[in-house]
Amino acid sequence: MHEFKYKGNQFYCEKIKIEELAVRFGTPLYVYSYHTLVDHFLKLRNAFRSIKPLICYSVKANSNLAILRALVNIGAGLDIVSGGELYRALKAGCPPQKIVYASVGKTDKEIEEAIRSKILFFNVESAAELENINRIAGRLNRVVQAAIRINPDVEPKTHKYITTGKITNKFGIDFKNAGQMLLLRRAFPNVRLSGLHIHIGSQITESEPYVAAINKTIAFVGALRKKGIKLEYLNIGGGLGIIYNQETPQTAERFAAKILPLLRKSGLKIILEPGRFIAGNAGVLVTRVQYIKNTPKKKFIIVDAGMNDLIRPALYEAYHQVLPLNKSRGALECADVVGPICESGDFFAKERKLPKMKEGDYLAVMSAGAYGFSMSSNYNSRRRAAEVMVLEDRAIVIRKRETYEDLTEKETIPPFLSSI
Ligand SMILES: *Cc1c(COP(=O)(O)O)cnc(C)c1O
Repeated sequence: MHEFKYKGNQFYCEKIKIEELAVRFGTPLYVYSYHTLVDHFLKLRNAFRSIKPLICYSVKANSNLAILRALVNIGAGLDIVSGGELYRALKAGCPPQKIVYASVGKTDKEIEEAIRSKILFFNVESAAELENINRIAGRLNRVVQAAIRINPDVEPKTHKYITTGKITNKFGIDFKNAGQMLLLRRAFPNVRLSGLHIHIGSQITESEPYVAAINKTIAFVGALRKKGIKLEYLNIGGGLGIIYNQETPQTAERFAAKILPLLRKSGLKIILEPGRFIAGNAGVLVTRVQYIKNTPKKKFIIVDAGMNDLIRPALYEAYHQVLPLNKSRGALECADVVGPICESGDFFAKERKLPKMKEGDYLAVMSAGAYGFSMSSNYNSRRRAAEVMVLEDRAIVIRKRETYEDLTEKETIPPFLSSI
C-alpha cells in the first residue's frame, strides 16, 4: 500500500498532483509520502506488538534528516553503518540508547565517537574488531555492549550483491568462531557481549530464509546457555522485500506469523532493522522527458534523471515501474527509458510499454524511496536532485537541489598551477 495514485489521468502523492511539484521544484525530483513512510513503520510495529521489539530503521536506505526524524518521532530506533550515519542519527534526535551500529570496517575514530555517544550496542563483525572495540573502550574507561553478528550461512534467494548471510560473504562470524569468542569473553573486559545479530540480505520476499537463520541462531543460543553463557538480545536484521514488479512479498503480518513463535521461544529482547520495507515504496523519482530518439532497432525515451540519481537498475539490473504523471495519451508503445549519462548502464526501464511520450512530459520512477537518493552521486558533474516530503496537501523541500558551486566547493587548484 502506498499513497501514490492516479485520480483521473493525473498522478498524485497524497493530496498533491505530482506534476505541480515537478513544475514548482524542477526535475529530477524525489517525492516522498509522509503517510506511506509512517504507515509502513506502524504496520511492522503492529505485527510484532506482542513482543514489543525495538525497531531500528536502517539509515542507509534513506538517510535524509526529515525521513529519520519522522520515524524517530513515532518511536523508531536507528541502525547505522558509519560515523556519518551516527552524526545524522543524533542530529535527527534519535536517543543514543536506540542506536545499533553494524559494519565490517569500523575505524578507531568511528568506534570512539559511538562509545562517547553511548549507543545501545555495536554489532561486531570480526575478532579483530572486538579486540579493537575492547581496547578503545578500555582507553575511554568504559564498558560497552556488543552483539556478535552471526553469518548463519543461509541462501536468502535475492540478488548476489545484496546477499549477506552466506559463508562466502564478508559479513558476520560463523557459529564456531562466535562460540569461541563468547567462551573467551573475559579476555575483553571492556565489552559486554550481550546479543547476537543476523542480517542475511536485502529484498528477501519469503520467510523461509529467515526461519532457517533464526532457527540456527536460536539453537546456538540454547547451546550457549548450557555452557553458562546468557544473552539478552537477538537482532534479526532487516531485508524484508517490497513490490517492485510482480513480487508477492510477505506482508508484515504474515512475516510476523511465521517468525514470532521462534522469537518468543528464544526469550530474548528482539531488534529489527528494516530499511527498504519502510522507505522503499514511500518515494518516487520524478523525471522529465528530454528527447524521444528513434533508432533502427529501438525507441529511447531520454529523461533528465540518470544513474547518478538512482543506480539500482545499473547496479543490480533492478526493475522499477515507470509511470506517466499524466496518462491521458492513449496508445502504448514499447521503449527504453534512459538517462543522459555516458554509460550504457544508465537506464531505468527496458522494452517497457508506455503511453506515447513527448518532450516535456513527466514520468515517475516508482519505489525509489530506498537506496535511491542515498546511493546517488555527482557522476558526470550532475547536481544531486532535490527531495520533497508530502504531507496531505503540503509539500516541503527536505533537501535543496545542489548548485554548480556545490560541485567544486571542496576542490582547490594548487598554487603551482595558478598562472595561466
Ligand atoms: C542494510 C542493512 C539493513 C537494512 O536492509 P533492508 O534490506 O533495507 O531492510 C539492516 N541491517 C543491516 C546490518 C544492514 O546492513
